[in-house]
Amino acid sequence: MDPDIIILKQRALEGIVISVQETIKKSESYGTLYGKYKEGKDNSVKWIVEFVLPNQLVKRCGKSIIYERKKDIERAEYFEFKDKVLGTFHSHIPVREEEGLSKLSKEDKKDMEHNRIDLLIGIKRIKKEGIIKENPYLISWYPRDNGQIYRADMKGYYLNKRMRRAILKAPKDIFKVSK
Ligand SMILES: [Zn+2]
Repeated sequence: MDPDIIILKQRALEGIVISVQETIKKSESYGTLYGKYKEGKDNSVKWIVEFVLPNQLVKRCGKSIIYERKKDIERAEYFEFKDKVLGTFHSHIPVREEEGLSKLSKEDKKDMEHNRIDLLIGIKRIKKEGIIKENPYLISWYPRDNGQIYRADMKGYYLNKRMRRAILKAPKDIFKVSK
């Protein structure tokens, strides 16, 4: 069986990077993913994320947010885009001494639905940029804000009988251009 893959088009990746950057100090960012879903002959799956829609109306409490992923997905499906809703993305930011974990929380897992994807971006404060090693399951970059350097690690999760991680593919050269 071929591995399951999430392909992020440039505009989708840019949308996530910008959304994460905007809220990096204050809150988690959160939004909906749109695109195409394809099943291969051997039951392998590809999610092609064409664009993202940051959700501006999540309830914010302190540094975390409250959302109901199922409701948000339903709401997003009312829009008449030709691309369908594939899932959601959100970030975990550093709070006080703790860095943002790049894994799903218990609450995140409860919200997952069969074949929906969840892109999670864990954000840590770091002192200095290192070399990013190639990892097919991870997209990493270094956001900056007011002299603070962060490392953002994005992972793609989906539910198919159990929680799994998909291979992530994206045009990573957008990060070089932004420096
Ligand atoms: Zn979370």
